[in-house]
Amino acid sequence: MADKQVEADQELLDAARKGDRKALDRLLEKYQGHVWRFGMKMCGDPEDAKEILQETLIQVTRGLKDFRGASSLTTWLYTIARSFCIKRRRKSKFAPDREESLEAEAEVRAIPDASRGPDEALAGRQLEQVLDEAIRSLEPMYREVLVLRDAEGLSAPEVAEVLGISVEAVKSRLHRARVAVRERVAPKLGIGEAQPAPTCPDVVSLLSRHLEGEIDPDACKEMERHLAVCPGCKGACDSLKQTLALCRTAPPRVPAKTQEAVRKAIEQFLAVSPPS
Ligand SMILES: [Zn+2]
Repeated sequence: MADKQVEADQELLDAARKGDRKALDRLLEKYQGHVWRFGMKMCGDPEDAKEILQETLIQVTRGLKDFRGASSLTTWLYTIARSFCIKRRRKSKFAPDREESLEAEAEVRAIPDASRGPDEALAGRQLEQVLDEAIRSLEPMYREVLVLRDAEGLSAPEVAEVLGISVEAVKSRLHRARVAVRERVAPKLGIGEAQPAPTCPDVVSLLSRHLEGEIDPDACKEMERHLAVCPGCKGACDSLKQTLALCRTAPPRVPAKTQEAVRKAIEQFLAVSPPS
């Protein structure tokens, strides 16, 4: 998190701890879109996402006093949201009987491109839908890494903290998840992508590793030279970049009805256990 943001959050936190309801509301409002999106992307169901949002915000309200500080506010939030997400997934009627394995995923051929109308907004919505489906088809252990890193914008060490795994494990899951999601989204992007030659490097994985600072400058230059002469690999790289750009949109507004229900639940919680 940027320093200014941490400072602003710390002020809100301090005030909220002293029982300032407005500060608490502002703090929760600030993060509710993120938690909502995380729940939607992980569970794919508005009812599940609402439960996750509600339980997370109540838990945050309850835990304010013991909380370390604003610098780790986001990791704390996602850690809580994730635990509710896992609980929810276990009992959800929407939980799939079986998760597709990533290996099977890699073999999924391009979804045939539906005729794209002139309506760009519609095309945008279709793209979003394809992206969501691609993310949802990942196994949860890959899905959560991609959502936290590429949608929510946490750093790899922050993701590692939320998940309780090593940064190396985060990065290796992330690369596999990105490769699988790009594979599904690419045919919808309209980027000309020729079949790579047998001698072509695995540019999508290389680019993903480059984005995580794992590629040394020499290997980087070599890749740039290859991309300059190989339109197929260039297209593959561009499609990964665009897929990631699609992931990194601003968090959506929480539906008004959901906000209201969550607010009521927090009111009820505070009425039973007011902050001391
Ligand atoms: Zn190539």
